[in-house]
Amino acid sequence: MTRTVYLNGEYLPETEAKVSIFDRAFLMGDGVYEVVSVLDGKLLDFDGHMARLQRSLDALAMKNPLDTAGYLAAQRELVARNDIGDGLIYLQVSRGNPGDRDFVFPPAEVQPTLVMFTQSKPGLADSPTAKTGLRVISVQDLRWHRRDIKTVQLLYPSLAKMEAKAAGVDDAWLVEDGKVTEGTSNNAYIVKDGKIITRELSHDILHGITRAAVLRFAHEAQMSVEERSFTIQEAQQADEAFITSASGFVTPVVEIDGVKLGAGTPGPVAVRLREIYLEESRKAAV
Ligand code: PMP
Repeated sequence: MTRTVYLNGEYLPETEAKVSIFDRAFLMGDGVYEVVSVLDGKLLDFDGHMARLQRSLDALAMKNPLDTAGYLAAQRELVARNDIGDGLIYLQVSRGNPGDRDFVFPPAEVQPTLVMFTQSKPGLADSPTAKTGLRVISVQDLRWHRRDIKTVQLLYPSLAKMEAKAAGVDDAWLVEDGKVTEGTSNNAYIVKDGKIITRELSHDILHGITRAAVLRFAHEAQMSVEERSFTIQEAQQADEAFITSASGFVTPVVEIDGVKLGAGTPGPVAVRLREIYLEESRKAAV
């Protein structure tokens, strides 16, 4: 089936959606993005993703081409046209096409480019890694210092992911000044003596929408949460570990740099948080 994608207000077959070679995202990585999960044809954490999109755009003085109602209508339309049960919506806004290459931002009349497309992922919530857990290695965090802005500049996370694959594991946890920042495309957590520990929000990490929801559910369930950074050594001695992201929800981590955590199987806190997250966000899905 040819996918129907969204480009600047139009729904087009994917083969007909064309963006200029002068687009600032293509030449300079001058764009921001969001990924929204779809379960049973409904959008998860939609408001949170739209709020973060606005935050990223504001941080880069980029115009938002649509309002929240417009995004909701377009995303629902894409879900319907592509018959998505479980999957995701990728959304990208770039500073548009100035008609040439220049470091200086284009004049205000240059319109942003807005692209949205679906990816079908049947059984997204039943991924095998939720049961087996992930194995990760640590990799130096060499990204720029505004990781709180969700830009399309994903080369370093992609290199780190490839390093993990080359090492025969699933993913990498990035380390800066001896402390874990986050995963290549997810937020990182450890659990010790029942306490959930995850790095505090700053410019050093992406402010995960799933992170916000999971911490809220953890507080509601009277679980104790400490927002602070931790080392790889502390993580290796933790009782359990996990990651969160929009498409991975809550996924256990069972091994860090070759050291198994506890029994080397998913821990009870991660398993419970995954259940709560999926249950609550399905209920609130739009
Ligand atoms: N950190 C990074 C670097 C990410 O790329 C992502 C996923 N885009 C996350 C954290 C998790 O964020 P979210 O829960 O909003 O998907």
